[in-house]
Amino acid sequence: MTDLSNSLAAADIAHSLHPYTNARAHEDQGPMIISRGEGIYVWDSNGKQYIEGMAGLWSVAVGFSEPRLKAAALAQMDELPYYHTFTSKAHAPQIRLAEKLVEMSPEALTKVFFTNSGSEANDTVIKMVWYLNNALGRPQKKKFLARNKAYHGVTVASASLTGLPGNHTDFDLPAIPVTHLTTPHYWRFGAQGESEAQFTARLLKEIEDTILAEGPETIAAFIGEPVMGAGGVILPPEGYWEGVAALCKKYDILLVADEVINGFGRLGTTFGCESFGFVPDIMVLSKQISSSYMPLAAILVSDAVYNAIADNSAKIGTFGHGYTGSGHPVACAVGLENLKIIEERDLVGNAARVGAVMQAELARLADHPLVGEVRGTGLIAAVEMVADKAARTPFDAKLKLGAKAAEFCNEQGLIVRAIGDALALCPPLIVTEDEVREIVARMERALDATQAWLAAEGVI
Ligand code: PMP
Repeated sequence: MTDLSNSLAAADIAHSLHPYTNARAHEDQGPMIISRGEGIYVWDSNGKQYIEGMAGLWSVAVGFSEPRLKAAALAQMDELPYYHTFTSKAHAPQIRLAEKLVEMSPEALTKVFFTNSGSEANDTVIKMVWYLNNALGRPQKKKFLARNKAYHGVTVASASLTGLPGNHTDFDLPAIPVTHLTTPHYWRFGAQGESEAQFTARLLKEIEDTILAEGPETIAAFIGEPVMGAGGVILPPEGYWEGVAALCKKYDILLVADEVINGFGRLGTTFGCESFGFVPDIMVLSKQISSSYMPLAAILVSDAVYNAIADNSAKIGTFGHGYTGSGHPVACAVGLENLKIIEERDLVGNAARVGAVMQAELARLADHPLVGEVRGTGLIAAVEMVADKAARTPFDAKLKLGAKAAEFCNEQGLIVRAIGDALALCPPLIVTEDEVREIVARMERALDATQAWLAAEGVI
């Protein structure tokens, strides 16, 4: 991969422990050093150009090196590079961004709390929900419902909500009361002969049975990504979210939409909850909020949630929570400009239009001998490889086929994310029709290369 004589690579190996990385393999292989980005492209330190098919970490909506975001950051650095928002302090970028988010979001969401990351935001949600239920005199109502394969972050509490084994194993997690329910993925978890409607009904029954078994008076909130991202780009079956929302209402359970990936146009609608016809009590936003040029996340809450917290803060004397960087002025200024660009260039509409082309192009890959399922909506998708198409049997996990196929994508000049044996795509929202055709063409060549490799290894 990288030439290890390269001094940057050697320095990286010498000094860095990377997130989500096999550290020993990294010592052998070295880093892939990305040195510049422009639009949908990035370049590595050898000068090779890639289409960033994942928009970084599902996040660079407006593309790399957008001059308006740089200008917004510089102007804010000149004016007021830092101030906090504790003890009633405020500043224009935080005020204006909160106002903008409330204007864009479902009407029921009226107040905003800022954090630096999606993990901190979900951690904050847990604390808000606990604080609120204590304030309302129901201290036993503390448990969360989440789903297997959910991704809600990596802090002690948010990683507890995450439903991926890699985030729990040897971290002594989960550490908060949470029950993980069946992943709403019909193709993978639908039973033999079960219709999609029956699958939805089974999952909703599982949720209701869990609520009744645990006692509704103990269940505080249900959290979910409208479309699951890091767990494998999983679209819920028809009627799932309407059913979840109805159960939350029936049992007085707060519904939390984690829109960290879905938010700001990814599905071709401004927010994922719009796509599935529900309105959450709490919505969590990050990533595309600032195109990740600056670390920023926001929690939007309903009047009812706000009022319970506000009343209790008056009683105790404060809402004792917040970060040095909550509502950081440079991050908020960049976020505000980023949201203006998303609106002015109609990037949500672009995600719907170009997304439809991407999905149609990808649908062709369903005929590829390695492909079991092509799934997606708007500008997010995954192509999952299986050993047996009809039986949907996965390849032996020891082959690490997804990672291998992602390497072949790299060779083709396309960065994707391997999630097990699924290849995820989530390009910047500025991507064009021609570019998505090119993305799919490169992925198809990588799948052919993967098939040839499997044949050479004697696996197929
Ligand atoms: N929620 C979702 C849905 C996410 O995809 C992520 C990050 N991939 C997070 C929360 C956590 O965000 P962060 O990495 O900024 O802590």
